[in-house]
Amino acid sequence: MPASNAPDDRWRLPGIPNLHSHAFQRAMAGMAERQGDPNDSFWTWRETMYRIAARFDPDSLHAVAAQLYAEMLEAGYTRVCEFHYLHHAPDGGPYADPAAMSNALVRAARDTGIRMTLLPVLYMSGGFDGRLLSPRQRRFGFDVDGYLRLFESLRAQEGGNLRVGCALHSLRAVPEKAMHEVLAALPGDTPVHIHIAEQIGEVQDSLALRGARPVEWLLANAGVDERWTLVHATHLEDDEIAGIARSGATVALCPTTEANLGDGLFPMREFLAANGRWGIGSDSHISVSPVEELRWLEYGQRLLSRHRNVIADADSPSVGETLLRGVADSRASATGFDERDDEWLLLDADAPQFAGATRDEIVDRWIFAGNRPLVREVRVGGETLVADGRHRDRDAIATRYREAISKLL
Ligand SMILES: [Zn+2]
Repeated sequence: MPASNAPDDRWRLPGIPNLHSHAFQRAMAGMAERQGDPNDSFWTWRETMYRIAARFDPDSLHAVAAQLYAEMLEAGYTRVCEFHYLHHAPDGGPYADPAAMSNALVRAARDTGIRMTLLPVLYMSGGFDGRLLSPRQRRFGFDVDGYLRLFESLRAQEGGNLRVGCALHSLRAVPEKAMHEVLAALPGDTPVHIHIAEQIGEVQDSLALRGARPVEWLLANAGVDERWTLVHATHLEDDEIAGIARSGATVALCPTTEANLGDGLFPMREFLAANGRWGIGSDSHISVSPVEELRWLEYGQRLLSRHRNVIADADSPSVGETLLRGVADSRASATGFDERDDEWLLLDADAPQFAGATRDEIVDRWIFAGNRPLVREVRVGGETLVADGRHRDRDAIATRYREAISKLL
């Protein structure tokens, strides 16, 4: 899907939006891959994640996020939706500036040049039954007033490459009344993101305590529309698939993280048949590559259906181009930024993987021909952030990252 038909632009593609990120989790990628129990699951992984989360302060968060965002830009992501819940000091009390951790992320985005939609997270309870946050979750917690003050203070910084939206952590973490209060207080153009239906256990708890499946409940109670992004939405019934598509909401799929955590497979074929809108996110950052997310989105469906070339149709036979078109459709809706033509990547036309490629084959070759990075240049807002495959501050950012990690671990 070249940006225009001019021959010089054959290798130029619109930048890829990354709809779901928890920046601090980059620091634990590859560190939760040893079996501690034959029943290891999302819930045991979460304990490891909490242990790492407990060690962060604003400086280490800044260093890790800058490394992550530089990696994203080198991979072709030009926008990131940062789903940020690591709000408070390790003991759970607020920092002197309650936005200290949020501002560390804002600085990391500014330093690297990536466009960021910062999504401060409302996180209030430890389960559908309204239980209190566990000690390890206290860093994440806000009441509604505190949350709205944080939201307002961040929103006042909006402009340039920063947008601010709202994230509800999940239905299990946000009581119904609080959800309504926050939604009612948001300006009408605010993007709203939520984790939903990622795990079967969450679906069962929702059925038991709210009398409906998570997506079913959300569609009936939250006024879901095109401002909304439903993250994961893995476990859906037919009515829920149709309901999300009808609402205009975007589903953020994170195939490598969903595979890593053993979540399950999203019903992509049914969702596409319903004309649902979707995009991708790198979430826990065990991979920072739109190529790998898109490839595994397609491969998951191939394994499930035992067919090939699933995310494509007679009007759009190229799987790669169909995938990129889907992602492009999420660029503005889920991020709150306008569609802009000052944000693109240039593939490495000289790479052997592209030898002999016709114009129609370029995107398929990019996505389905291996793991070497094939992004040569990335520009955002008129600035060249990546040249010859390297972020302009790659070395300095990596040095600060190594120092931060040695302190964290
Ligand atoms: Zn997430």
